[in-house]
Amino acid sequence: MRYEVREKVEISAKESALIVVDMQNDFAHERGSLFVPESRKTVEPIRLLIEKFRSKNSTVIYTQDWHAEDDPEFKIWGKHAVANTWGAEIIDELKPKDGDILVKKLRYDAFYGTSLDHILRVKGVKKLVIVGTVANICVLHTAGSAALRWYEVIVPMDGISALNEEDYQFTLRQVDFLYKGTIVRSHEGITLI
Ligand code: ZN
Repeated sequence: MRYEVREKVEISAKESALIVVDMQNDFAHERGSLFVPESRKTVEPIRLLIEKFRSKNSTVIYTQDWHAEDDPEFKIWGKHAVANTWGAEIIDELKPKDGDILVKKLRYDAFYGTSLDHILRVKGVKKLVIVGTVANICVLHTAGSAALRWYEVIVPMDGISALNEEDYQFTLRQVDFLYKGTIVRSHEGITLI
């Protein structure tokens, strides 16, 4: 699929945020109810990115899919990420620390019905590095929603995961073609200045 891949990007630590989408037990743990096997390969790149952002006092935001017991979304996907359950917790390897921000989301788009846009604007954030799972679902809807609000979106290829290669490639194509975001080959190519 056609999209442009950059080897390196330099972004301002002050005006950027890292958004870690739904790296919760139900999606990224092998016992999770909607486990995405490829998500395991993204854990270390995401962990390193989180460390990089924290070390520069940049903003780290985690999203959590967070559903009521009878959420209508379960008609599509089955039960997952029920509020206050193990499945809705962030995986142990990426546990949030003091200073990180958690946003509980209702649907695929992390801006929908949440305070995410307000949090970013108050902080003066203009660029978002978006990682997590599922690539073509919650990552793409969040990236698209960010781009519609004129945030600049940056996606490292080793930071997102899908249930199959086609969905993964489609996500990168849409970020590049439709949302004019930047695809970076690896988390290592992202430098905070
Ligand atoms: Zn959900």
